[in-house]
Amino acid sequence: MERGTFLAVALLAIAQAGCATESADVERTRTVHGQGFVVEDDGTLEPAEEAALLQELAESRAKILHLFGKTAAIGDFRTWKERSEAACAGAQLPAPPVEIRVVVVKKEGRCHADETGLTIRRDHLKRKDATHELVHYLAGGSWRPIDEGLAVWLTEKLQGPAWGVPVDVRSRVYFDLGMDDGLDRERMRLGMNRRDYDLAGSFVKFLIDEKGLDAFMVLYRSAPGDYHTVFGMPEQDLLAKWRERIHAMNVRQDASYYRFKDYLANLRSADDHAADRSLQGGH
Ligand SMILES: [Zn+2]
Repeated sequence: MERGTFLAVALLAIAQAGCATESADVERTRTVHGQGFVVEDDGTLEPAEEAALLQELAESRAKILHLFGKTAAIGDFRTWKERSEAACAGAQLPAPPVEIRVVVVKKEGRCHADETGLTIRRDHLKRKDATHELVHYLAGGSWRPIDEGLAVWLTEKLQGPAWGVPVDVRSRVYFDLGMDDGLDRERMRLGMNRRDYDLAGSFVKFLIDEKGLDAFMVLYRSAPGDYHTVFGMPEQDLLAKWRERIHAMNVRQDASYYRFKDYLANLRSADDHAADRSLQGGH
C-alpha cells in the first residue's frame, strides 16, 4: 500500500473508531431544518417531540448567547493549549455554522457535543440534555469539572432543576449521606458519575456567585486548575469555601431536601449499588 493511501485508511479507521457508538445505531433517514438547527433522526421522532426539541433549542440558544455575549466560542473544542498557540499565530476562529447540527440517537448512543454539533439520546430529551449539550457547544470546550459544571448550572437556570431539586440541595444531600467523592480533577478526567456532575454544577454556581460569569469564563479559557489567576486563591481553598457554603444552607424546612434524601436512602437500602447506578449517566 502506498504511504498516502495507508495514511488515508489509517485516519479513516481512527475517525470511525472515535464515533462507532454513535454511527452504529443511527439510521439517519430524516432531516428536518428549523430555527437555525438541522435535526437528523431515524424517522421515529414524533412531530410533537421534534417541535418541542426545536423550541427548547431555539429558546435556550437565545438565552445562552445573551448571557455569554462575547465570551461565547461556538463549536470551538480546541484545548487551552491549541487555542493559545493559534492566538499567538494570529489565527481567526472559523465563522459559526448557519445551522447547528443535532443528531437524535436511540438508547445505545451517548449524549455529547463536539465541533460537528450535538448528539442527543431520544430518551434523554425529557431531562433537557439538549440544552446541556447546547451549553457545551456554544461555550466551547474547557476542562473537567468546570465544563460539566457550567452545563449543569446553566441547564438548571434555563430549564429548572432536575428532579425538581436544586443542584445545591442535591449536593447537600450527597454530603449528608456521605455520597460525594470530592471533585478531584485527575479522577474526573477519566470519567464522571451523576453525583460528580451535580457537585460540579454546584461548585460552578458558587464560583459565578463569587466573581460573576465574565470572570468565570476567563477561568474557563485558562489552563486546567488555574484558579489562582482569577480568584486569587488555590483550588483547594475554593473547594473548602464552597463546601462551607453548602453545609451552612438551612435545609430544615426544605421539602425538596427530604424528598431527594429519602429517594436516595430508599434506593441505598434496597441495594447498595442501586443509588449509584440510578445517578449514573454522564454527558
Ligand atoms: Zn456535559
